[in-house]
Parts: sequence; C-alpha cells; structure tokens
Amino acid sequence: MDYFLTEEQVMIRDISRQISEEKIIPVRAELDEKEEFPWDIMKVVAESDLLGLFIPEEYGGLGKGTLEMSIAIEELSRACLGVSTTYAANALGTYPLLLFGTDEQKKKYLPDIVSGKRLVAFALTEANAGSDAGGVQTTAKREGNEYVLNGTKQWITNGGEAEIYTVVAVTDKSKGARGASTFVVEKGTEGFSFGKKENKMGIRSSATRELIFENCRIPGENIIGREGMGFIVAMRTLDYSRTGVGAQGVGVAQGAFEAAVSFAKERKQFGQPISSFQAIQHMLADMATQIEAARSLVYSVARFIDSGVKNITKESAMAKLFATDVAMKVTVDALQVMGGSGYMREYPVEKMMRDAKILQIYEGTNQIQRNVIAQALIKEAAKKK
Ligand SMILES: Cc1cc2nc3c(=O)[nH]c(=O)nc-3n(C[C@H](O)[C@H](O)[C@H](O)COP(=O)(O)OP(=O)(O)OC[C@H]3O[C@@H](n4cnc5c(N)ncnc54)[C@H](O)[C@@H]3O)c2cc1C
Repeated sequence: MDYFLTEEQVMIRDISRQISEEKIIPVRAELDEKEEFPWDIMKVVAESDLLGLFIPEEYGGLGKGTLEMSIAIEELSRACLGVSTTYAANALGTYPLLLFGTDEQKKKYLPDIVSGKRLVAFALTEANAGSDAGGVQTTAKREGNEYVLNGTKQWITNGGEAEIYTVVAVTDKSKGARGASTFVVEKGTEGFSFGKKENKMGIRSSATRELIFENCRIPGENIIGREGMGFIVAMRTLDYSRTGVGAQGVGVAQGAFEAAVSFAKERKQFGQPISSFQAIQHMLADMATQIEAARSLVYSVARFIDSGVKNITKESAMAKLFATDVAMKVTVDALQVMGGSGYMREYPVEKMMRDAKILQIYEGTNQIQRNVIAQALIKEAAKKK
C-alpha cells in the first residue's frame, strides 16, 4: 500500500533498509548466538545520521518526527529486533531530556547522542516496580547542591553499554506518585555500578542489565524537570516511545512474512510448491492483511503525534498493543508455514518468533496498554456527559 511518504521519508526508509541488508542480516544470527552487543552496527547507524533523526537541528539532529522514527525502526526490526531495541531504547532514554530538559542539559547531552559518542538508557523498572511503576524504591535525597541516589534498577536496556542514564527515583516518599523525580546519571559517577547481565530468550544482542546506586552523588542540576515530576516525565516519555515499539512489531512481522513467502514458493510437497495449497495461501493472506493494518495504525498514530496534539496516550498505546500482538501472531504463523525448517536456526524465523515476544512485555505489557486505553475511553465518555 502507498502511504504517500515524502521523498525524505523514502530516503530514510532506504538508508535504514540498506543498513539492514548489508550490515545486520549477515551477522544477526551470530550476534544472537553470542549475545554480542551490536557496536559496529550502531556506529554505521550513527554515521548515517539515524541516531539524530528525532533530535532538533539546533542540537545537531535532523529535526524529524515520530513517523520518520517509526520508518527507521520498522526497517531495522525487519532484520533484527535485538539491534532495533538498542536503537529504540536510545531514543527512549533521550525523550526525558528532549521533552523536559533545560537548554543547558540539551546542549550538554544531545550533540553526543546524535553523533553516537554516547548511548542512552532509560531506567524506571525495579524488582518491585514493574507494571506498578509507582512501586519505585530507589531514592534520591537532596543534600546541599547534590542528590544522593540509592537503589537498584532491573532489566535496563543498553545497561552497561550506555554512557547516559535517565533514572526515576523517589525524592519524597510521603507524596506517593507525586514524590518521584527523574535524573541524568553518567556512567563513571562514583557509587554507580552495573550488576547482573540477563541471559534472555530473545533480543539477545540487546544488553539488559541491573544498575546499582550506592550513595551515588550527582549535581543538583542533573534533575530533569522539577522535583515531583518523575512520573509525568516517565509517562510522557512512554507516550512518545510506544509508537516505536509498534513499529518494531510491524518490522519483525514483515521480516517473518517475507521469509515464509519465499520458503512457501520453494518448498515442494505432494509434487507441488506448498504455496499452491489453500491452507498456506490463507495463512499468508491473513498475515499480510494484519501487517498492513498494523502499519496503517502505527503510521496514522505517528502522524497524529507529529501534528502536535497534546494528548497522545490512548493512541500510542493502541499502536503498541495492536502492532505487537500482530507481530507475535505473524511470527508464530510464519514458522508454521515453514514447518520443521522454521524451527531450525538455519532460518531466521525462529529467532524472530523468540524476539517478538518481548514487544508484548516491555514499555508496559499489553494488558497494561488495554488498561491505559480503557481508562482514556472512560474519561472521554465522562467528559461527553
Ligand atoms: C528485555 C527487557 C528489557 C527491558 N528494558 C527496560 C528498560 O530499558 N527500562 C525500564 O525501565 N524497564 C525495562 N524493562 C522492564 C519492562 O518494562 C517490564 O518488564 C514491564 O513493564 C512489566 O513489568 P514486570 O515484568 O515486572 O511484570 P509484572 O508487572 O510483574 O506483571 C506480570 C503479569 O501481570 C500482569 N499485570 C500486572 N499488573 C496488571 C494490571 N493492573 N492489570 C492487568 N494485568 C496486570 C502483566 O500484564 C503481566 O502479564 C525491560 C524488560 C525486559 C524483559
């Protein structure tokens, strides 16, 4: 389907696709097997200006929007979700600075993010704070002109590899959800170290690590926004990044679909290609329809966000929910089309199926997305009364 992309958007798609074809596809199985962080690929991504896609021109970026980010993420995900998770989590970690940072903070950090000199991570989750982000226990105590951080963050993407961390911590326990704040913490700060690196089912080239803060002192100016705004910063950040998770879903589904189609044309049983069987044809038709529906929703929501509307919570949750459920279904069905071959590591689809599962979990599980959408619908209905 033609989405009437501009020349520039087509160029972004083509550059991302070229990186995928030339740099990612040849090594994705090895990166997965060895759980190796894709540094070489990230360097190429940076050289192609893709790290600064969504960052304003005054800070060295290209000043593009959510649609351009979605296009780039989709193309990288078509090749490897481990790599695209590294890329998308870099944006996730940057949004707090972009949306709530001071001009000084932006000048200090954004140019290095654009050039790829410093990667970013976003740290909200803890052992007792998953879906219930209000359960954050990491504290940031004000002492003179500094904050002192104590606590442990869990399952942080780009953990250990990133140089810049946007971290949510409690500054005033008595205020509940209004008592959290967000901070920038740089790698190498005394009292900040890394714990366990996770051994995962999928997206194995993406680093997932524990962050440990033990009397970690940071300057007072490292707060993002004001004290007490931590959850507003985190939720607004997720509003922006969730469309990108939807785009990851579209990309991995597209990759699995293409592998299934090419297999179905080649594989012969009962003296004919399996693509001649109606059972296979119907699966392929359903997969293609679901992918197109997911892409349409992701692009529409991206355009909606780029129009400048303020309240995007429901729409970005819808894009994430729908496209990532499609990704799971399509990757499972693509493997089924390929039979036993699909189950083997010689083909990319078993990895795509393992990788796709995370999309229904991170940045808020799909149950939580349904809660978010339902809450928005109920609020809208109440306003209409
Ligand atoms: C590979 C990976 C990378 C990650 N990267 C990051 C990162 O970079 N930064 C970061 O901060 N976090 C990160 N996370 C954390 C991720 O966002 C959380 O895992 C996710 O939000 C879910 O939390 P949980 O795993 O603790 O599940 P839980 O909250 O324990 O949920 C368990 C189950 O209960 C359901 N459930 C919980 N509450 C409700 C409810 N109210 N209604 C209905 N169902 C409910 C959930 O949907 C789920 O099915 C990452 C996680 C993984 C696995």
